[in-house]
Amino acid sequence: MESRGTKREAGEIEVAEPGNKLPRPAPSLPTDPALYSGPFPYYRRPSELGCFSLDAQRQYHGDARALRYYSPPPTNGQSPNFDLRDGYPDRYQPRDEEVQERLDHLLRWLLAHRGQLEGGPGWLAGAIVTWRGHLTKLLTTPYERQEGWQLAASRFQGTLYLSEVETPAARVQRLTRPPLLRELMYMGYKFEQYMCADKPGVSPDPSGEVNTNVAFCSVLRSRLGNHPLLFSGEVDCTNPQVPSTQPPTCYVELKTSKEMHSPGQWKSFYRHKLLKWWAQSFLPGVPNVVAGFRNPEGFVCSLKTFRTMEMFEYVRNDRDSWNPSVCMNFCAAFLSFAQNTVVEDDPRLVYLFSWEPGGPVTVSEHRDAPHAFLPPWYVEAVTQDLPSPPKD
Ligand code: GDP
Ligand code: MG
Repeated sequence: MESRGTKREAGEIEVAEPGNKLPRPAPSLPTDPALYSGPFPYYRRPSELGCFSLDAQRQYHGDARALRYYSPPPTNGQSPNFDLRDGYPDRYQPRDEEVQERLDHLLRWLLAHRGQLEGGPGWLAGAIVTWRGHLTKLLTTPYERQEGWQLAASRFQGTLYLSEVETPAARVQRLTRPPLLRELMYMGYKFEQYMCADKPGVSPDPSGEVNTNVAFCSVLRSRLGNHPLLFSGEVDCTNPQVPSTQPPTCYVELKTSKEMHSPGQWKSFYRHKLLKWWAQSFLPGVPNVVAGFRNPEGFVCSLKTFRTMEMFEYVRNDRDSWNPSVCMNFCAAFLSFAQNTVVEDDPRLVYLFSWEPGGPVTVSEHRDAPHAFLPPWYVEAVTQDLPSPPKD
């Protein structure tokens, strides 16, 4: 593994000369890929600690009821013919994106299970708790040229919690999302419906509604360098056919992408899309991503399985493409930066890490609303050490 110190210069607070009263410059963390090209850091094989489900009304359940089963069409020489636009918009129940859930569902799981966590006493106090999707954004940051991000961080009873904040630009994009983009989002969920069944060994039923409130989330333990991690990610389905049905090895991520015809289109796909697919599935140890390629009419006519651990091979010889070591080294450097910035243990104190493409990660300090994100029911229960669930 790469030691925590290798990229230490980056992000470290510059200390003024003794006796010199000059204010220290605000710390920041550069994101240039060239700074993070060392050897691949240690990353513990992710293990599943548990799971939870969100139902059609976005209500939490501490079980696997929303888990679906991978059920691809029979491989009898025919290609699939999935109409991804079927049911749009009449059989579409999109989740209300105005509701900012922050870490709430994950914290509800953690409140119920923190007493039985493996890793020994005190493991949680040294860990970072977040969503997989937030870590994905960190992994792809050195290569991202379009979308910035903001991550809020608080320390509470030792644990560092990281929760994304929607940037003003992302909010504008969401509220002005063009109709065609809305339909494309639906198509991704519709593909899942064509490929998944509610029970093992039965065929998918694409006649029902697509409700994006429903989610199955796996809760995983890992470690990046010296940073113990507890994170949760939404899992599309499990493959009941795989030899080891032990999570996360049995999980499958489903994706759709535009059908490609030229070598140039494939090259761009490997450079940009495969990076995001790799980062998302590598983190939780999901071994396979099944892609459905759609034609301009919105029909999936071909499927291809990409093995997460082989994705880098498509770009290994491409100097201008991505490298997993850069992604992981940057993520480790950010986590060290955050750990060294958020020193005070106070759930009402929030450090907001902000990044825009072309610049470094910067930090600002906030207290209470609107940035504080650890809910009172969590803070109070943990403070009083009463493992009671939140009241509705
Ligand atoms: P992903 O990797 O980006 O799909 O995100 P995660 O798997 O980490 O998802 C964490 C939680 O956020 C789950 O409950 C998801 O249903 C939810 N989620 C996923 N994408 C979005 C999104 O675009 N906006 C919001 N608000 N929540 C999302
Ligand atoms: Mg998916």
